[in-house]
Amino acid sequence: MDKQFQKIRDDFPILKQRINNEPLVYLDSAATSQKPQTVIDTVTNYYQTINANAHRSVYTLGQRATDEYESARKKVQHFINAQSSKEIIFTKGTTDSLNLVASTYGEANIQAGDEIVITYMEHHSNLIPWQQLAIRKHAVLKYIELTDDGQLDMNDALNKITDKTKIVAVAHASNVLGVTNDIKKLAQITHSHNAVIVVDGAQAVPHQPVDVQKLDADFYAFSGHKMLSPMGIGVLYGKKELLEQTSPYQFGGEMINSVDKFDSTWSELPWKFEAGTQNVSGAIGLGKAIDYLNNLGMENIAEYEQELVDYALPKLLSIEGLTVYGPHDSKNHNAVISFNLNDLHPHDVATAFDMDGVAVRAGHHCAQPLMKYLGVVATVRASLYFYNTKADVDKLLQAITDTKEFFR
Ligand code: PLP
Repeated sequence: MDKQFQKIRDDFPILKQRINNEPLVYLDSAATSQKPQTVIDTVTNYYQTINANAHRSVYTLGQRATDEYESARKKVQHFINAQSSKEIIFTKGTTDSLNLVASTYGEANIQAGDEIVITYMEHHSNLIPWQQLAIRKHAVLKYIELTDDGQLDMNDALNKITDKTKIVAVAHASNVLGVTNDIKKLAQITHSHNAVIVVDGAQAVPHQPVDVQKLDADFYAFSGHKMLSPMGIGVLYGKKELLEQTSPYQFGGEMINSVDKFDSTWSELPWKFEAGTQNVSGAIGLGKAIDYLNNLGMENIAEYEQELVDYALPKLLSIEGLTVYGPHDSKNHNAVISFNLNDLHPHDVATAFDMDGVAVRAGHHCAQPLMKYLGVVATVRASLYFYNTKADVDKLLQAITDTKEFFR
C-alpha cells in the first residue's frame, strides 16, 4: 500500500519543496490539506475559459458556469450519499455551515430552558455558535464528558441527552485527540428524545467514507480546503424536511422568488440559503477534489492512514518524555496525533521541527475548553493525510530526537 501512495506525492507540487534545506514534511493537514495539480488546473481553467456569474445569465459562459456549479453540487451529494442535491448548501466552510444552522434552525427552535448538548472535544466552530445561542435564548448548554483516554463517554451521553434536549452538536472526528465518534449511535440517542443532531464533519469527510443517510445526521458540515479543494468553499448538508421548514438568514441576490416593496418570498432549496455571488470556482474545485478522492477510494484512504497511525503511534508512545493525548491504542486512533515533549512549550517544539523541514501545528487548536479539560495550555499536533508516508513519520521521529538534543 505504501508504494502505491508514494507515487501520489507527485500529484502535489508543493510537496517537492525544501524548507530550511530539508525536504518538506507536511504534517498539518488537519489545518488545511495540500492541493493536487488537477484541482489547481481546474480552478485556473475555470478563470481562463468559463468565468461568469452562475444562475444569472443566459449567454453561453453564464450557462457553463451554472452547469459546472450545479454539477459540483451533485458530486458532493453522491460523495456523502445525500438523498437529494437540494440538501447540499454551499458555504464558506465548516464554521460558516455551523453558524448557519445555529442562526436559522437554532434561532427558531430553541426556547428559554431548552438544552443544547455538545462535547468537551468540540472545535470553537461547533461550540461558540451554540454557546452564544444559549446565551441569547436563556437555554442551557451541556457538555458530554470524555473518558480517561480522550474518547467520548457514551454513558455520559445517555445522561446528558434527555427530553429537554433540542439540539446535540458533536464532532464526527476530533481535531486534537485523534478520536472518531460513533455518530450513528449518538443520532439514535438524540432522535429517541425528538432532538436533532448537528455533526461537525471537518475532520471526517476528508479521511473516511461518510454516508449521511446511514449516520442519520440531521445536519452535517464540512470544509473543502481540508479535502484537497481551494479555501473558502464548504458544505452544509441538511435533511430536506428540516431545511424546508427553516428560514434563510442572509438576504440578497438570487435567494428570492419574488420581491415586493414590503415583502418577499424565497427561492427553493438549496438556493434560498445561497444569497449573493457564490464561490463558483471553489465549488468546481471541490468537485474535482471529489473526483480525485473517489479515484483513490475513500476506503483505501482510510486503510492507508490506519497503516500510518499503526506505524507512528507505538513509536511515539515509546519516546521518553513525550505525552500523547487521546487513545493509546492505534485501532481507536485516527491520523491526528497530539502530544507534548517534556516541559517544552509547543511553539518551541514546532519551531525546532521546522528547522528539520517538518511542519506541525502548535497551540490550542481552536479548542480551549478541551485544553483546560486536559490540563494543558497547548499541544503539538502532527496530522497525516494519504500523501504522507512512513518516511515522513521517520522524519517526525528524527525531529523529536533532534529537538530533545537541542533543548538539553
Ligand atoms: N471543526 C473542526 C473539527 C476543525 O478541525 C475545523 C478546522 O480546523 C473546523 C471545524 C473549522 O473549519 P473551517 O475553518 O474550515 O471553517
